[in-house]
Amino acid sequence: MGVFEGVGKLGFGLMRLPRLESGEIDVELTKRLVDIFMDAGFNYFDTAWAYEGSEKAIKEALFDRYPRERIKFATKVASWMMCNGPEDVERQFDESLADTGAGFFDYYLLHNIGDSRTAFFDKYDTWSMIARKREEGLIGHFGVSTHGTPEEIDRVLTEHPEIEFVQVQINYGDWENPVLQSRKCYETIRKHGKEITVMEPIKGGMLANPHTRVQQLLKSVRPDDSCASWALRFAGSLEGVSVVLSGMNGIDQMEDNVRTFKGFEPLSESEYEVLDEARKIIDGIDLVPCTNCKYCEKMCPKNIGIPGTIAAVNYMKEYESRENGFFQLMSLVAFPGKALPVECIHCGACEVACPQKLQIRECMDIAVEELMGHVDEYKRVNLIKGFNPQD
Ligand code: SF4
Ligand code: SF4
Repeated sequence: MGVFEGVGKLGFGLMRLPRLESGEIDVELTKRLVDIFMDAGFNYFDTAWAYEGSEKAIKEALFDRYPRERIKFATKVASWMMCNGPEDVERQFDESLADTGAGFFDYYLLHNIGDSRTAFFDKYDTWSMIARKREEGLIGHFGVSTHGTPEEIDRVLTEHPEIEFVQVQINYGDWENPVLQSRKCYETIRKHGKEITVMEPIKGGMLANPHTRVQQLLKSVRPDDSCASWALRFAGSLEGVSVVLSGMNGIDQMEDNVRTFKGFEPLSESEYEVLDEARKIIDGIDLVPCTNCKYCEKMCPKNIGIPGTIAAVNYMKEYESRENGFFQLMSLVAFPGKALPVECIHCGACEVACPQKLQIRECMDIAVEELMGHVDEYKRVNLIKGFNPQD
C-alpha cells in the first residue's frame, strides 16, 4: 500500500489561512473553506508547529467538526526553532497534539531540513523521537520537508532510509532555476523512490497572477482556465507526486483549485511547451521571487516588514513606478506596524532563514534607495495621509 493511499491529490496547505484585520485567523471563513474542500471529496491538510495560530484554528475549523476518520493530517517539527534540547523538540510535538486535538498525526515531518538546520535534528536526536512516537501509534507516516539542495536531499535520504516521503517546492517558474534547482531536487527524490508532496506549486500566489504577457499566453490556449490551474496541473502531472498543497485563503481560490483537481487533466506535450514559453517571459522580468512565507520576519531583530518591502520593490519594477512602489511600502509595511527597510542593520539573519535563498539585504537597500529616496516629501506626506483618515 502506498504512503498516500486514500488521500486526495489536492492538499489544503494551512500556512496562509485568512486573517481578520486584527491579525487573528478568520476561523469562520476557514470553516467555509474546509467545508468546500471536504464536500468535494478531498481530505489532506498540512500545517506546522511553526505556522502561527494555524494548529489552534484548524482544531476549531476541522477536528471539532468532522469525524477523525475522514481526515488525513500532517504537521511538522522544527528542531532549529526555539529549541535548546530534546525536551523542547518533544514539547513542540505535545503542543501540536494538544492544539490541534488530532489525537494522532497521519503524517509527521521534519520541517525544512537543509543548511545549518539539519544539524539540529541530529543534535537533539529528533530521529529517535519520531521512531518512539511511531511505536506509540502517534505518527502514521514519516517525511521531511525541504528547500535544500539536491546534494543535501540526497545525503539525508541516504542516511535515513526510514523517511517515507519528501515535501518539496515544485512549480513551473522555478523548475530550471539555477539557485533553487527544483527539477534536480525532484529527480533526486525520485531516484530514492520516495513519494512527493508538493509545496508552493503557485509560488506563493505569484503564478496565480503572473505578468500580463504570461496571462495572455495562458488564456490564448485555455481561455476558461485560471493561471493558477496551469501551475497546479504542472505539479500534479509529475510522476511520483501524491499530493499538491495549495495555501487557499479565499472561496474563489478554493473553488477554482477544487475544480482543477476534480477532473484532473495532466498536461499535454504542447502544454508543457506553453509553460516553457511562460517561464522564459517570467525569467526576463527580473522580479524578486519571494513567496511571502515570512520565515525571514521571525528572525529579524528590527521587525522589518521584509516580504511587504519585497512586494513593493516588485511592484515598482513591474509597473515602472517608484511612487506606486512607495505607496505599496506604506500599505504593506508601515501601516500594519512593521518597521521600514531603512531600519535594516544588515545582520543577515533573514537570509539564513529564507528558503528561496534571496539576497534580502540587497532588496532592503534597493527599497531605501529607490522607493524612499526618490519620492519627494510633499507626495510622501500626502500618500501617508491618504491611508490615515483621522489626520
Ligand atoms: S539583514 Fe536587515 S532585514 Fe535582514 S534580519 Fe537583519 S535587520 Fe532584518
Ligand atoms: S524573503 Fe524569503 S523568507 Fe522572507 S517571505 Fe520572502 S521567500 Fe519567505
